[in-house]
Amino acid sequence: MNQAPWIDLRSDTVTQPGAEMRAAMEHASVGDDVYGDDPTVNRLQDVTAEMFGYEAALFAPSGTQSNLIALLVHCARGDEYLVGQEAHTYKYEGGGAAVLGSIQPQPIANQADGSIALADIAAYIKPDDMHFARTRLLALENTIGGRVLGSAYMAAATSLARARGLATHLDGARICNAAVKQGISLREATAGFDTVSVCLSKGLGAPVGSVLCGPKALIEQGKRWRKMLGGGMRQAGIVAAAGLYALEHNIARLADDHANAARLSAGLAQIAQLKVATPQTNIFYIEVPPAAVDALRAALLRERIRATVGQYTRLVTHINVSAADVERILDVFTDFFKDWQHAS
Ligand SMILES: *Cc1c(COP(=O)(O)O)cnc(C)c1O
Repeated sequence: MNQAPWIDLRSDTVTQPGAEMRAAMEHASVGDDVYGDDPTVNRLQDVTAEMFGYEAALFAPSGTQSNLIALLVHCARGDEYLVGQEAHTYKYEGGGAAVLGSIQPQPIANQADGSIALADIAAYIKPDDMHFARTRLLALENTIGGRVLGSAYMAAATSLARARGLATHLDGARICNAAVKQGISLREATAGFDTVSVCLSKGLGAPVGSVLCGPKALIEQGKRWRKMLGGGMRQAGIVAAAGLYALEHNIARLADDHANAARLSAGLAQIAQLKVATPQTNIFYIEVPPAAVDALRAALLRERIRATVGQYTRLVTHINVSAADVERILDVFTDFFKDWQHAS
């Protein structure tokens, strides 16, 4: 008997390139990108810069590296950046800015909606005084934990930063989700930021890569850092082709992931033992009774559903989770909690 295929809700990084994306990779023209000779990488960089409204762009092997390059071009040794406590560029990048750039983060508590309060941004900018690190940069993230920072907030935060002489960087790993959700263009979603890092390998479904967009002069400096960090890749057009395919075909369909997350959340909310958040995009959290965690994890695995199950469980929809998969997941959860209630 055929077993059902695995459903993986751990992250939108787990997506598999489909046949058409693989065909684009197979047929990509390539060259040595360290010499600037790879036509597919060059096209990816031009297309991305144009789509997001920037002068230039740089293909990097990961979002961690592309964010680090941005921090390194904006900040020098002894500078600091203002960043959310929950932000990837502070919490999930191994302290790279401090380790490799001698750049100090100034983490600031995120509000419940994922934003950093404007008053906090203003208050944490340090005066020009030899006791303090030089505050150089505001780094924001959108979406953050699946939450959308709206255009009005983004405009206010970047204006405040600019008025106080700070540069601005957007960790836009999932900026396309934020744009699709708000029904705005990619250019509107990144307006006001000096640089933006866009992940191709999250919801867009490419296997590898991020693109850093910004002014030509900063991107040129960024190329030096990328080489130093080991991110100078040779015939990288093979993977850049997947990124191009993703930008051309997989942005509008993010709305399907948002709809699937909404349906999954609404169905799970019917289960009395769960506390379920309402997703804004493709990521949301549920609270599982601690006593049920181990058994739920096992029950999901038995039904070929992968999730990072804990008391606070993050669920993520993506291109390889279909509407039918959502119904299968709901059936498994519903059955489990029916039995679990009886057993407890
Ligand atoms: C995934 C992610 C990145 C980059 O991660 P890599 O795994 O290094 O590509 C950066 N920022 C956010 C918000 C992310 O979710």
